[in-house]
Amino acid sequence: MDPAAESVWGLRLPRVEDYAPLIGDAAVERLLAKAGRLRDRRVVHVNSTYYGGGVAELLSALTLLMNTSGIRTDWRVIQGRPDFFSITKKIHNALQGEAINLSSLKIRIYHEVLLENAARIPLDDSIVVVHDPQPLGLVALYRKTGPWIWRCHLDLSGPQPAPWTFLSQYIRRYDAAVFSLKEYGQDLPIPQFFFMPAINPFSATNRPMTDADIDRRLAHYRIPTDLPLVVQVSRFDRWKDPAGVVRAFRLARREVDATLVLVGNVATDDPEGQGIFEAMLGCQEERIIVLSCQDTALVNALQRRAAVVLQKSRREGFGLTVAEAMWKGTPVIGGNVGGIRHQIRDGRNGFLVDTVEQAAARIVQVLKDPALRRRMGDAAHRTVRRRFLLPRYLEQYLDLFGAFEVRFSVKPLRTSLISGRGRPGPGTRTCPPPAACPSPPDCPGPRR
Ligand code: UDP
Repeated sequence: MDPAAESVWGLRLPRVEDYAPLIGDAAVERLLAKAGRLRDRRVVHVNSTYYGGGVAELLSALTLLMNTSGIRTDWRVIQGRPDFFSITKKIHNALQGEAINLSSLKIRIYHEVLLENAARIPLDDSIVVVHDPQPLGLVALYRKTGPWIWRCHLDLSGPQPAPWTFLSQYIRRYDAAVFSLKEYGQDLPIPQFFFMPAINPFSATNRPMTDADIDRRLAHYRIPTDLPLVVQVSRFDRWKDPAGVVRAFRLARREVDATLVLVGNVATDDPEGQGIFEAMLGCQEERIIVLSCQDTALVNALQRRAAVVLQKSRREGFGLTVAEAMWKGTPVIGGNVGGIRHQIRDGRNGFLVDTVEQAAARIVQVLKDPALRRRMGDAAHRTVRRRFLLPRYLEQYLDLFGAFEVRFSVKPLRTSLISGRGRPGPGTRTCPPPAACPSPPDCPGPRR
């Protein structure tokens, strides 16, 4: 990109320096120094969708911040037929604990589509970060010229053994794996790192909105504001338990009056979403609104205006929607699972629930107590400011990238050129060394 490009339309991309009022000057300087040390490296992130879901949201923010910090960062998305994404969604479900049948036909389709993608996507001379199971197997199709990192965003608290064994033949070819929580760590022969995602406070989903803007957005979708809003924002996915949200809301409405808005989208890599959305349409009534759209300003408006936000997930690697609502000072009632447990401190900055009945009771409690809402909302905002803003996430990636040292060596020489009687001379090696070796502080030891 032309360095003067930003002035063409008078726009400006977010920079680490913009975070100074939130994280302090010292943190900004530290981050820029770390980024400066990686200036000559190139990073490519690979995932399976440009929009819909947390990974796309994260990559959209992270890849820009990495570029404006001076690290050349690319984002490539694999393409696939619907049957491919139906298989990868099954694998996703299996990693979150659901039994599946991974037939040889499905494995063949998985391999075929990845091979087609490998032919189109150049990944040379880069640090390659592959996100989630969809593009995982790509690692088998490239000659590595830099470190490959597998970043898994799923709730791995109880993966199904057979699909995990299938995937681990690829995972072990990576140079490191990153999971959101320590408890997702697996028995693997590669170093594992643990860091939780974070949000971009300057994105259309999170930036400040005036009351008038919020009113306009809600009016556009004919969302009534005469009663308090109870909101869940989520891809239409069984793991997010939208049916449980409706049941909890109906129970709560026996004691308090409110409007429920379920807003969601359907990601291109999730073929189950449309069916779930259609099933949820059957739950609509005057005070239960179900919307499918791709409108980040609406998400922002709802998370701001809601009296309470729900994220009643049954599995959740980390809930971006939880952090987004908390950032806006809105109390969140979250499923007591996965990453949400590390985002919400029960009773302090939100509530954790295990059942529909508990969710209903908390909805009633929060709606009846404006002082509690304010107190929890303030605590929630402070939590996100301290722990879940993008610079912390960027820094953990920079530390990880910086922990790979580049090793240079002479290529193996043809025998006729080797001194003596065919034995390698000084500085020669008989096989190519690994392109890179991780040696971070918590690396469990030499690789493999
Ligand atoms: N999202 C959105 N529109 C919707 C539903 C979700 O923009 O209708 C966004 C939401 O704001 C969040 C992301 O999609 O940034 C969902 O991330 P999360 O980690 O909560 O869940 P995932 O979809 O990754 O399981």
